[in-house]
Amino acid sequence: MTPAGSLPAADFDALIIGAGPAGAALAIALSRPPMRWRVALVERRAPHAEPAPEHAGQTLPGAARRLLVALGVWSGFVEDAHAASLGQLSCWGQAQPERRDAFVDPQGGAWRIHRARFEQRLLAEAQAQGCTLLQPARVSGFARDAAGADAWQVQLAPSRALRCRWLVDASGRRATIARQLGARAMQLDRLVCDLLRLEPIDGHAHDTNDLDGFSLVEARPDGWCYGSALPASGAMPGGRLVACYSDPAPGTRGPRDAAALLATLQDQPLMGRFVQHHRAAGLLRRRAAGSACLCPQAGTGWAAVGDAAASFDPLSSQGLFHALYSALRLADALQHGTLPAYSRELVAVWQAYRRHRQAYYATETRWPATPFWASRRSPDSGLLGLDLV
Ligand SMILES: Cc1cc2nc3c(=O)[nH]c(=O)nc-3n(C[C@H](O)[C@H](O)[C@H](O)COP(=O)(O)OP(=O)(O)OC[C@H]3O[C@@H](n4cnc5c(N)ncnc54)[C@H](O)[C@@H]3O)c2cc1C
Repeated sequence: MTPAGSLPAADFDALIIGAGPAGAALAIALSRPPMRWRVALVERRAPHAEPAPEHAGQTLPGAARRLLVALGVWSGFVEDAHAASLGQLSCWGQAQPERRDAFVDPQGGAWRIHRARFEQRLLAEAQAQGCTLLQPARVSGFARDAAGADAWQVQLAPSRALRCRWLVDASGRRATIARQLGARAMQLDRLVCDLLRLEPIDGHAHDTNDLDGFSLVEARPDGWCYGSALPASGAMPGGRLVACYSDPAPGTRGPRDAAALLATLQDQPLMGRFVQHHRAAGLLRRRAAGSACLCPQAGTGWAAVGDAAASFDPLSSQGLFHALYSALRLADALQHGTLPAYSRELVAVWQAYRRHRQAYYATETRWPATPFWASRRSPDSGLLGLDLV
């Protein structure tokens, strides 16, 4: 890693903003043969800072295996010993849990990944392929090169200027750079996530639960929730995490009382079992989790990838797959000069996702009158046409 302030001025073929899964995967694909581009990856987080808490216990579908192979990180991924998911237990459309075992998935079972390890693996491979990691750093300004050359002049904070041919926005769902370039994020909903961290009550620290190892999903009148048992790691001392998804009431900042939120979970058939013998250890800041598609996703000398290009409802477990897939597709498009085809493909993926999302939400019919479910069941529920804020 290179401290952001100390490099001499240098040119890069691509400057990627954001070293999450999408940015790191793209850096691998561009830096290695046959492209061998000079790539710089800019990340605002300090080295070794833990990814955001909502990333704990995330599910990576088995279909991602071929992408990890294509990126050359499959054997490292296996060494990193992520937890295999036993499957999914869901109360959706009915109060009785429905069980889908991982081993019946023809693509192979999913993993509940250790996100910090996963990101570190991708970054290490990008650097091994020759990518320059600038961290911590952020873009403080950029403009097309004054000399009229086919390049960008970019200013980084702390102080450093560089020139690059391509600017890639991999900054996540805020799409900070693309929006400065005039792109708009069209939102499908305003889904938000409130994360409740739980710790075992005295005498139950070593209890096991037959739900551990499964991804738990349970619908409720004002949304749905997801439960995951956490391995002890860094800032997260193990225990459990429950993510409650809902549409925010205008002007609200989320629940303030962790114990009250836990009490609502204790009344639910599935979550009630999952959270038993646990107490609330804290509520984390409310996070955006809605579905959005950037428009356009690329332009002259720039492109967006991962969540910056399109973001998905966490119910679909599609975000990480899309981050890796869109990175591989963008590398291919940059190599062959086929950016319009890249954009068309991402839009087609997102439109298919939109149909699946609507069909899946429509299978939950127990609370037809509540605003959350009514807004998702309506056959013409579509783009809100709003910019992300
Ligand atoms: C609550 C929640 C639960 C989810 N659960 C799942 C799940 O179970 N399975 C799944 O597949 N997906 C899930 N997702 C989605 C998944 O986390 C994202 O799709 C994935 O992280 C996208 O990767 P990315 O690299 O595009 O963006 P990010 O992971 O957001 O990475 C963006 C990076 O850019 C950096 N950055 C941002 N702005 C700047 C800047 N200006 N300068 C420099 N760096 C910057 C950030 O620090 C970050 O490292 C979930 C999302 C949420 C919100």
